[in-house]
Amino acid sequence: MAMNTEVLVIGGGITGLAVAFELARSGRRVALYEARRIGAMASGATLGGIRQSGRHPAELPLARAAVGLWGELEGRLGAPTGYRRTGNLRLARSAAEAATILRMVRAQRALGLEIDYLADPKDIGALAPGLGNGVLAASFCPSDGQAEPTAVLTAYVKALRRLGVAIHEAEPARTVVVERGRVNGIETGGGRVAAPNVVLAAGIDSNRLLAPLGLAVPLAIPEVVGFRTLPRPPRLGPVIGVANAEIAFRQQTDGSFRVTGAAAGDAVAGRPRGPRLGALARLLDAFSALLPEAADVPLAESWIGFLDQTPDALPVIEACDEPRGLVLAFGFSGHGFALGPIVGRLVAEMVAGRSPELSVEAFRRDRFGRQGFPAGVTLHG
Ligand SMILES: Cc1cc2nc3c(=O)[nH]c(=O)nc-3n(C[C@H](O)[C@H](O)[C@H](O)COP(=O)(O)OP(=O)(O)OC[C@H]3O[C@@H](n4cnc5c(N)ncnc54)[C@H](O)[C@@H]3O)c2cc1C
Repeated sequence: MAMNTEVLVIGGGITGLAVAFELARSGRRVALYEARRIGAMASGATLGGIRQSGRHPAELPLARAAVGLWGELEGRLGAPTGYRRTGNLRLARSAAEAATILRMVRAQRALGLEIDYLADPKDIGALAPGLGNGVLAASFCPSDGQAEPTAVLTAYVKALRRLGVAIHEAEPARTVVVERGRVNGIETGGGRVAAPNVVLAAGIDSNRLLAPLGLAVPLAIPEVVGFRTLPRPPRLGPVIGVANAEIAFRQQTDGSFRVTGAAAGDAVAGRPRGPRLGALARLLDAFSALLPEAADVPLAESWIGFLDQTPDALPVIEACDEPRGLVLAFGFSGHGFALGPIVGRLVAEMVAGRSPELSVEAFRRDRFGRQGFPAGVTLHG
């Protein structure tokens, strides 16, 4: 006799995959529905930076716990992730940017993060040889790092299959079914799938499922341009960012440079399929200025990604009071790749009806209705 599914996960990005993994590991019967294909949205477009530095105080405990989990993820999933703790260098190219970085370093040190302010370009050059002349200062967080997005997603999928999780690609959830104040599954193109628990991890599309329930949250959907070069011999260790977040880059394990740009616009209507030429040209210029020795490396591919950006750039992570059985995990605002493994753990605890090991109070959706609600900045990379 077929066993009933206990949890339906909507979304096959890192969040949905990590949630499904933790639930299946704890013995739950899980099915995952992905509208497109695994990693089709932000989790495939991502830079793959795993950082704690530059995080909002509410998010920092999650990022620090996530860094611990990234260290053991490969062993738990049984496949390579490309994770390495190479540090994150955030560069200042003007006195104003240097002041921004110094403020950030002081604030993060006060919260207990090991992060240094480098005022001598020689120290910066020693960590990242080949950087251009315009760099004046930087922050360096040695326990930050990076992972290879495709490897990570593939490793999760393999682990899920091993654990017996049914993965349905190209099968969007059309509605979340609610009966008498409780979730009772989803509707897909193939009909009703029943389950007492639903986890919504649908990134920029989450509001489509929440609006009919009266639970939509304010989300902007800016675009971010990315590109990758052909491989070069390995030389760049840390992930590189800049104070104004216009560019972030790193060298992948295969030697190619992976580069992403600034968040721009709000793409709810009329999504383009590829990068706008102006945005790509600006990003190519910024990269060549920061790493002149890479200026002649051939381009391999370019893309655009979208961010599910909330007004304070913090996610929504919540077990809903109404309908019961619905857990939300989206709105990662351009920095959710790093958080995936810990969000998987926290959400699995919430599905089980337990209080999660780290507080998620700051991530409730009702904060958007409050007065004096702060607007945030977002850094990715
Ligand atoms: C260019 C770029 C660079 C970034 N760099 C970094 C970085 O360096 N470090 C970092 O930590 N973060 C970074 N981020 C952010 C990070 O990639 C995202 O926060 C993270 O990948 C979000 O994962 P997710 O699973 O929540 O969402 P997504 O990866 O967007 O996954 C949601 C999935 O849900 C699916 N879906 C939507 N609607 C439905 C439906 N109705 N039914 C079923 N499935 C549905 C979508 O197809 C999608 O695959 C970056 C993002 C971008 C775009």
